[in-house]
Amino acid sequence: MKTLRLILGDQLNYNHSWFKQTHDDVTYVMMEVKTETSYVKHHAQKIIGIFAAMRAFAGYLQDNGHRVIYFKLDDANNRQSFAENIKALIRDNEFDKFEYLLPDEYRVDQHLKELSEDLSIPVHTYDTEHFLTDRGEVQELFQGKKSYLMESFYRYMRKKHQILMAPAGKPEGGKWNFDKSNRNKLPKGHRPPRPYQFHYDYKEIYKLLDECGTETFGNPSAGDFQWPATRSDSLELLDYFIKNLLPLFGVYQDAMDNDFWSLYHSRLSFSLNVKMLHPLEVIRKVEAAHYQNSDIDIAQAEGFIRQILGWREFMRGIYWAHMPGYAGQNYFGHYRKLPEFYWTGKTNMNCLSKAIGQSLEHAYAHHIQRLMITGNFAVLNETHPDEVDRWYLGIYIDAFEWVEMPNTRGMSQFADGGTLATKPYVSSANYINKMSNYCKGCYYNPKKTTGEDACPFNSLFWSFLDKNRELFSKNRRMNFLVKNWEKRDATDRQSVLEQAEYYKGNVDQL
Ligand SMILES: Cc1cc2nc3c(=O)[nH]c(=O)nc-3n(C[C@H](O)[C@H](O)[C@H](O)COP(=O)(O)OP(=O)(O)OC[C@H]3O[C@@H](n4cnc5c(N)ncnc54)[C@H](O)[C@@H]3O)c2cc1C
Ligand code: SF4
Repeated sequence: MKTLRLILGDQLNYNHSWFKQTHDDVTYVMMEVKTETSYVKHHAQKIIGIFAAMRAFAGYLQDNGHRVIYFKLDDANNRQSFAENIKALIRDNEFDKFEYLLPDEYRVDQHLKELSEDLSIPVHTYDTEHFLTDRGEVQELFQGKKSYLMESFYRYMRKKHQILMAPAGKPEGGKWNFDKSNRNKLPKGHRPPRPYQFHYDYKEIYKLLDECGTETFGNPSAGDFQWPATRSDSLELLDYFIKNLLPLFGVYQDAMDNDFWSLYHSRLSFSLNVKMLHPLEVIRKVEAAHYQNSDIDIAQAEGFIRQILGWREFMRGIYWAHMPGYAGQNYFGHYRKLPEFYWTGKTNMNCLSKAIGQSLEHAYAHHIQRLMITGNFAVLNETHPDEVDRWYLGIYIDAFEWVEMPNTRGMSQFADGGTLATKPYVSSANYINKMSNYCKGCYYNPKKTTGEDACPFNSLFWSFLDKNRELFSKNRRMNFLVKNWEKRDATDRQSVLEQAEYYKGNVDQL
């Protein structure tokens, strides 16, 4: 049967069983289409990275004897949507079967289901052979429970895949979680190894985007592109991480610094999310490095493995358990717009200026910057979760909705009311000052809550807590804060609330 098989831009799994053999009657199709470049405004590096990786993947398949049709964004016969291109290909080439790999995003899943119903030839779907859980596995595990607990899911995964396990079903090192040994600030004068760079020149793709009228933002990094484009690049990045960064990964996992943008983080999320790397191969390499190398203690290996084996799979499970309703959740009823400085980095708040500035420069910020700087400010400033989602989905090289949305709407904005997180991740300047050197040299004073140069995080934090007293007082990790707040003198509380209102009303001047 003459078969057409679709490969999406985030399905670049070099080891997929589809590619084990060549077949004369199978043609693969890959496409750069405007529906994908424009569903949200993207950072230029994100589109460049995906197109570059897709083109390299198509080349790899062709070199290995597969038939590939590749639509570039400006090809004359490109109808600019998956459905329209596929219908035309089937009609013009008389394909009698259509097959596709299950997409990870609800939007694309729906699009391909609708297309399949429209076609008059048989359609088959296949797994991407990437994830370690099925779409519905997390939901099944937590059937009948009000909230989902990552820690129990993670233990289940450790046992299921026998990762970092000691004899008799016990966790390696005697504990499941070594987070308490992590979370240090970067010591003064400490210099992490440099981020591993690639030096590609993608001016041509950037020019193409420009010529096709694709709206992007951020530094296109043309001339010196720093993200991996192939599986072998991704393996190089993984090896560099294990050798140079993993030994201190956990220790400085939560640290933030004015001068270093990726510290000891792996920067593997792009390679993982477009499937150039398999999560289990990354985990196994890290596990082996721990057993073979005394520099990599259990706290580092466990801390890293938890992110991929635990959080990454867990987020995907939450997404599929709750879509499409999850995309409309707004527990606090927040309604404000994202401040203009999220698009420019131009603000006197040094932490935001640095976290946003590096995101515009590199299409990257690490987890704590996303959660405790940009996400924290967005929720304290009562931003509509749609605005926040759109920004995160556009700006990061690794942003795909199945992982972006639970992290943003769920974990960071608490818009799901606690399905995913046990409490909102909000803080005053105290946490930021403890974990970074951002506050030194900032226009604002982290110790002040009211007055001209008072740090906005402080009054906004207390005002948020005041508004949501009922929720916080029921949370055993936060009720002491409500008690502290209520103990404060009424005039003092009033001036904090007025300060917060002033800042909210003048957010673009901060
Ligand atoms: C508001 C917000 C939005 C986010 N949006 C995305 C997103 O769009 N895409 C994305 O891949 N991650 C997202 N994350 C999770 C995390 O910030 C990134 O995975 C991480 O920063 C990627 O950098 P890294 O590869 O250097 O990670 P490392 O710190 O080196 O961690 C290793 C790997 O663990 C995985 N991981 C770590 N934390 C998480 C997590 N919370 N959820 C899922 N996987 C995780 C990633 O695959 C990552 O590559 C978001 C987090 C927050 C708070
Ligand atoms: S003082 Fe406030 S605004 Fe400035 S860096 Fe610290 S936390 Fe951020």
